[in-house]
Amino acid sequence: MEQQLLSGCDLHLHLAGSFYAEDLLAIGAPIFREVDWSSRDFLSGYNASLETALDPVQLFAEALENPEPGFAKLRAAYVFGAEDGGDFERFMWKYRLFSHLWGYGWERGKKTAVSMITQAVQHHKRQGLDYAEYRAGFWGEDDLLRQRMQICAQTLFALSDGRFTARYIVPLPRSEPLPTYQQVRQLLEEQPHVANTLVGLDFASREEGFPPKLYHEFFQQLQKDNAANPEQRLAVVYHVGETFFDKSLESAARWCHEAALLGARRLGHCIALGMDPAVAISRRPQAHEAELVSERIDQIAYDLRYAKPLRALGVPIDETALRAEQQVLSQRADDWVERPYTAPRLQEIRQRQTFVLNELAKMGTVIECCPTSNLRIGGVPDAEHHPIHRLLASPVNLCICTDDPGVFDITLASEIEWVLRHTDHTRESLAKRLGDPRRFALKPLVAA
Ligand SMILES: [Zn+2]
Repeated sequence: MEQQLLSGCDLHLHLAGSFYAEDLLAIGAPIFREVDWSSRDFLSGYNASLETALDPVQLFAEALENPEPGFAKLRAAYVFGAEDGGDFERFMWKYRLFSHLWGYGWERGKKTAVSMITQAVQHHKRQGLDYAEYRAGFWGEDDLLRQRMQICAQTLFALSDGRFTARYIVPLPRSEPLPTYQQVRQLLEEQPHVANTLVGLDFASREEGFPPKLYHEFFQQLQKDNAANPEQRLAVVYHVGETFFDKSLESAARWCHEAALLGARRLGHCIALGMDPAVAISRRPQAHEAELVSERIDQIAYDLRYAKPLRALGVPIDETALRAEQQVLSQRADDWVERPYTAPRLQEIRQRQTFVLNELAKMGTVIECCPTSNLRIGGVPDAEHHPIHRLLASPVNLCICTDDPGVFDITLASEIEWVLRHTDHTRESLAKRLGDPRRFALKPLVAA
């Protein structure tokens, strides 16, 4: 198969979100009667959130015995579509319909785990992907955690061939990244060949409450470890600017910049850099007006540091006023500040977005844009106000990815089609603007 420049390479892909409804059925078929569906409050949570009365055993049995109406029901229970109204909690319950099975499969042992991973990867191969970086987080005590990461890496390696390469990225819990990171390092030390496939780390899941500044030491440690083990270099990808209702739009844009300054190679989403501020604040009453005093203090420090380039873009920086505000705020560090938006402030935020996008472009940082994910779970109201328009118009390195293609029932090719449908780009101009996404692979691809 001829390599497809844009639709053959997916750089933002969660393995547990990669299973389509038919994969769910194939994986569930031999085990759905054994699974304890009420454990971890799955069934009660699903039914309460989606206001339904799901019976997973009945659902699987019907889809297998009577596929004509049965499979459509399974699909409807699982796929998170446009009609689900962008409610993140509902998304998580639908996502858990598979991840509950996924968790059970891993408890069952290596054979089931390998066959589950194979199911997802074969599906991507059939779609024509030639390069994919999968993110998959595991659980368990240290030994078990390493064993599971190893199985994942080895299976992805085994599924790679001359026409398809799969790589593995380990997500780190933002609340405590170090223990998982240490297990990754230990695994690479014990099994050096795993470094062929395990090439990166991801800061994922809930971002609100976890400012990039928390991870300075972590990145320093990582740099040191990378310098000491060049064969086992790990690069970082970082979800940021996706959900940011806890702060001002200035801070949301700043976080994207700070994540890049930490040394993250690619940033997931960055809706905060591409969505127009007037649209962002229209999403909820008083949206983005309140933030922690600590965030405001950090923003003031940032504005003082970048006063010159911000001014050059038309953002007025009054250093005397900022220092006075800094002085007052330093007395009330645990409090919240509220700052309503005005038209000039919204215009300044547009310039701040431009500033950060230009800085990312200079640093070579890549933004991974996931169109459907942003619409369904990223709080982007519609295609017209999608951040992609602004990102495409900027000089930033950009790639189009799927995030959770199975749960959204999309493909990378359908995402590229979405971009062509909703922007003025032609296939040729889009290819020219984006270039080959494989150049952003966390470990350079060696020609087969
Ligand atoms: Zn993601």
